[in-house]
Amino acid sequence: MLRDTLLYLSQHDGLRNFALSNRTARNFSHRFVAGEQLSDSIEVTRTLNQQGLSVALDHLGENVTDEHEARAATEDYIRALECIKESGLEANISIKLTALGLDIAQELCEENLRRLLSEAARLGIFVCIDMESSAYTERTIDLTLRLHREFAQVGTVIQAYLYRSKDDLERLLQEGVRVRLVKGAYKEPPDLAFPQKAEVDANYVRLMGMLLARGNFPAIATHDEAMITAACRFARDHGISRDAFEFQMLYGIRRDLQERLAREGYHVRVYVPYGSQWYPYLMRRLAERPANLMFVLSNLWR
Ligand code: FAD
Repeated sequence: MLRDTLLYLSQHDGLRNFALSNRTARNFSHRFVAGEQLSDSIEVTRTLNQQGLSVALDHLGENVTDEHEARAATEDYIRALECIKESGLEANISIKLTALGLDIAQELCEENLRRLLSEAARLGIFVCIDMESSAYTERTIDLTLRLHREFAQVGTVIQAYLYRSKDDLERLLQEGVRVRLVKGAYKEPPDLAFPQKAEVDANYVRLMGMLLARGNFPAIATHDEAMITAACRFARDHGISRDAFEFQMLYGIRRDLQERLAREGYHVRVYVPYGSQWYPYLMRRLAERPANLMFVLSNLWR
């Protein structure tokens, strides 16, 4: 119930404007967001690399409705790619199709994405297309599959809460596309997604087995220790090397677990968001763990 309310509010313009101008909310966002500038995220990436952790940089922004903004977002992503290369960092990038203009026109989004992937190919950096709500699933899978035939270094995300995900994963596996497996962060109706956490977890384990057995350097993205233990056990029982996959976690969440897995010899990548458009991202993080909300509320009016 609270999760649904927070996810609903993540789309609320008035609350977004209030949060963006509120100092406490802004300070709280720093728990999950590297900062507003690319230079902030580069600094964080350098520190994480020194700790043996790789990074996926995410320039925050989504559901762009202005063509100029979509082109500007593309340029921002390209600057991030160049900066990664120049700084010699162990990092790739994560992008959202709605930041590149998918809500405006598929053609615009594809044009921006092609430009971005050409630069990424030139620089030899992997690009992951984040998965947004179910309104975009079909288009995201189709575009990834089509562009993967031209740009091998593009991959995408599968959400375990969707009923359709097993079929989508099968299509991606057949084409050798790199996949990140997550549980799913959006508000979805019960005719599209498993409503119970236990069902989502069971599907996550099922899809994880498919990915570890047949995937191209898959990413097991979760903070759930039961999922992580299941992945380690599956890999061990099936003779899958620790170099054949990676764990991924979000910046600011379970740092202890990130460091422990890296110490044990697993590849760990931290997803590091940065930028001024942190509001919907932050609300999704609150929805995942409403205990975080109490901290914000108790400090909001101080
Ligand atoms: P849960 O069962 O939700 O949580 C397990 C435990 O993790 C909790 O008990 C708690 O201890 C800890 N935890 C989880 N979330 C939080 C939090 N916010 N604050 C503090 N502790 C927390 N979703 C998408 O829909 N599309 C994407 O493209 C996408 N990309 C992602 C990339 C990465 C690298 C990661 C890690 C997640 C991504 N997600 C994405 C989010 C994902 O779908 C889940 O919403 C999120 O990871 C929480 O689920 P969980 O697997 O950690 O398990």
